[in-house]
Amino acid sequence: MRWLGFGGGKNDSHAPDATGDASNSRDAPERGGNDASAESPARLPAVCPPPANSSEERRRETLDDITRFLLDNNLPISPFTLDTAHDIVTGANPVLAALVAAHVEDDQPVTVRWLEDVVQAQETENGAAQLHALILRLETTVDEFANTASVARTATTDYNSALEAHVGDLGAIDSGGGNVIQQLTTLARDMLSRTREVARELTRSERETRTLQKRLADARAEAEIDHLTGLPNRRAFEARYNEEYAATRDSGEPLCVAFCDIDEFKRINDNHGHEAGDRVLRTVAQSLATMSDEKCHVARHGGEEFVVLLRDKLIEEACAVIDEAREMIAARRLINRSTDVPFGRITLSAGVADVHAYRDAREALRAADDALLRAKDAGRNLVLKADPPDHPD
Ligand code: GH3
Ligand code: MG
Ligand code: MG
Repeated sequence: MRWLGFGGGKNDSHAPDATGDASNSRDAPERGGNDASAESPARLPAVCPPPANSSEERRRETLDDITRFLLDNNLPISPFTLDTAHDIVTGANPVLAALVAAHVEDDQPVTVRWLEDVVQAQETENGAAQLHALILRLETTVDEFANTASVARTATTDYNSALEAHVGDLGAIDSGGGNVIQQLTTLARDMLSRTREVARELTRSERETRTLQKRLADARAEAEIDHLTGLPNRRAFEARYNEEYAATRDSGEPLCVAFCDIDEFKRINDNHGHEAGDRVLRTVAQSLATMSDEKCHVARHGGEEFVVLLRDKLIEEACAVIDEAREMIAARRLINRSTDVPFGRITLSAGVADVHAYRDAREALRAADDALLRAKDAGRNLVLKADPPDHPD
């Protein structure tokens, strides 16, 4: 893939940010680019050069594209920017390319700081995904082993009982059989003691396997928790969302999803520091967590953004639940405990969608996200219902 049209008109219209300030980069790093990738390339001026006819020409083109990308965005030349520019212009990292395209579409500056945030979020996500896949593979292998061990132990126990009966029978035969019976009895006793040993080993293996299974289950649970807030993380949410989607589609129960985002949270970090920002995030998370029960699942989606899944609630009821949480948070007056300076009012905005009104779970999530953006545009501290789907069904 060639880098499409970052040079020229559009890019010149936004002066790059020399401070590296990412203040307007709302949501791009956390959302993984799903929304952006669908439509932004069509809105970028497509400048496709004729195909290069030699490998040297191709390399020159790639270098030109990298140079243009760095110059157009006023980025310094460093190993990080060169590496990142390479991944963007060659399409080696299509998600990053789509995020950058969407960012430029939004007239936002592509700064080093913004690129670092996006790349770091991607790396964290990839690392968590790999860990999760590894745990699942290990769990499957251990489960298979546990089954095999259990079947083998049952077979060995049965075999032992049969052998014991035979040894008893042999002992009951009177000595008319002479030496042969004697030898058979000794042999059978020997086999019996060995198979008992095998049975003991298998029981021990089963015990150890159960411990391993428990540890793996703990590791999986650990990998699904957001360590800052203690809430389930985005991975756990996605798994739960898919499960709830399938279950409620089958049962016909309503299911709603809400995207909640703390308003002007960057201001908290800027005014009070990142650590104080973390404490505010934890406090908001705790307030939201008071809603959660077996039919209400609250998770941290990323950054200062949370998601809530509400089963068995109609859209109006779901909006009311989220609005209550919004009010509760807005009513609190938090103070920075290390400076005694008040944080000012902390508010959040949210968008809520009736999941089954949309074609699929992903479309519903996007609709909730769009409603959240409308709530931001409408002045924040607001919960809005998502627009109905624009397709007729
Ligand atoms: P808006 O009302 O439009 O949502 O404005 P905002 O400032 O909340 O949104 P923006 O996306 O501009 O800024 C979000 C900020 O949240 C930027 C980022 O540094 C901060 N943030 C994300 N994750 C964390 C975190 O784990 N801890 C802290 N302290 N800050 C975080
Ligand atoms: Mg946000
Ligand atoms: Mg925010």
